[in-house]
Amino acid sequence: MSIYHDEVEIEDFEYDEEEEIYYYPCPCGDRFQITKEELMEGEEVATCPSCSLIIKVIYDPDMFKAEDQEDGILNEKLTQLKLETN
Ligand SMILES: [Zn+2]
Repeated sequence: MSIYHDEVEIEDFEYDEEEEIYYYPCPCGDRFQITKEELMEGEEVATCPSCSLIIKVIYDPDMFKAEDQEDGILNEKLTQLKLETN
């Protein structure tokens, strides 16, 4: 028993880079939507603004965490700096 209308992989969503929102067609004619920010926070439910249907988004949380952290880049810069100093 599931409350979700469907389960859809994030790859099947259409991504709007300007709005940073993922869209997926809803049977009502409108579109389910979920923002990149919500995905980074661990949200996995995409909602449709025109009806009460919801879908579960299948995705790898690491995919969004990695983009959020700049530690990797920072460490790389520090390493470079150390090499230059030595
Ligand atoms: Zn709908």
